[in-house]
Amino acid sequence: MFAPFAGPSPAAMAHRMSHDPDQPTRPATRVVQAGRRPEWTGGIVNTPVWRASTILYPTVADLRASGARDTHHRLFYGRRGTPTQWSLADALTEMEPGAEGTFLYPSGVAAIAAALLSVLSPGDELLCVDSAYDPTRSMADTLLKRFGITTRFYDPMIGAGIAGLIGERTRAIMLESPGSLTFEVQDIPAIVAAAKARGVVTLLDNTWATPLLFPAIERGIDLTILAATKYIVGHSDVMMGSVTAGPGRFAALRDTSFQLGQVISPDDAWLGSRGLRTLAVRLRQHGESALTIARWLAEQPGVARVLHPALPSCPGHDSFMRDFRGASGLFSFVLDGGGEAARAALIDGLAHFGIGYSWGGFESLALPIDPARHRSATRRDDAGPVIRLHIGLEDTDDLIADLDAGLARFRALR
Ligand SMILES: *Cc1c(COP(=O)(O)O)cnc(C)c1O
Repeated sequence: MFAPFAGPSPAAMAHRMSHDPDQPTRPATRVVQAGRRPEWTGGIVNTPVWRASTILYPTVADLRASGARDTHHRLFYGRRGTPTQWSLADALTEMEPGAEGTFLYPSGVAAIAAALLSVLSPGDELLCVDSAYDPTRSMADTLLKRFGITTRFYDPMIGAGIAGLIGERTRAIMLESPGSLTFEVQDIPAIVAAAKARGVVTLLDNTWATPLLFPAIERGIDLTILAATKYIVGHSDVMMGSVTAGPGRFAALRDTSFQLGQVISPDDAWLGSRGLRTLAVRLRQHGESALTIARWLAEQPGVARVLHPALPSCPGHDSFMRDFRGASGLFSFVLDGGGEAARAALIDGLAHFGIGYSWGGFESLALPIDPARHRSATRRDDAGPVIRLHIGLEDTDDLIADLDAGLARFRALR
């Protein structure tokens, strides 16, 4: 049906690129091949941009038949997507062994909202990790509350102790690991086991690790969420989110997403697919450079503490070593004393770090953060102001020299 290009026949291409179930591919191979169906690419390497609102039907009967059947992977109306969006969604599903399907959203926050609304109903209770991304926390405190859903926040280090919080009305547990801003690594297997024992749905914000470093569905998570804006897109130029559903969870997710009218533009989906192809090699470099800089920072005068999951000083480091395949490029460090002006002097003078929200692009960023403000179930007593770094693909020697001069500015004002 979709072969408007003059090229090899889809059947011939399908044979060339077919996945042999007896030869399961490794994640770095999958990230290159996933979602590239010949009937969508027509022989072009990456699925091109199929723009559409109206789809034309030859007859009234065809139009009626189209609406009556499942529109999954069938052109129906632009809001249901075209091969460009389906290709990226399928690629993300293939990156999560055991997953049933993926839906795409115009931002990470939109993905979080759809995932939660696909599970929760009035009267339900949500357990949400205290180190959650701040907009997730405020969604619970505002939108969900307005719809009669209550939220209890829990200590990120709770582990199997979560069982003691699960009550009659508990419907879902929201996890984020490592935690936003502070990087506590949760004991995901223990929380998943407790949730399964009580029929509670688990949702994970997996933006930091992506499926490459933590395959969430395989580890028993029901709905795994990415701010694809970050590492999937990878170039700081598109807003996007995704939710990938585990067994039995996709139908409700898709229904809720259709009801909310969620769709992403084919142009954005194309950029998402383009970013995805280099995810494995980018993440490897982000991870290696960030760890080099984190280790260097931990030795510097003026630094009280480095919050990086691969360092033994990070809460949940043992879980990180057990469960993750590596680290990405985002971490924080706590300054030793000093105030707002000294922190600003450090950041303002940096030559190679941009000052701005988001992360996951090819460039380095530095952000002043105040994690203690976004807590209700746990307390933070940091020794000084905190800075979050995203380590980009620049040379680490340049970044270290930049931070070295920044720390000297900090110490002079402290
Ligand atoms: C950025 C981010 C989000 C939200 O993504 P947007 O695309 O900015 O809406 C969600 N979770 C985490 C952990 C993030 O860092």
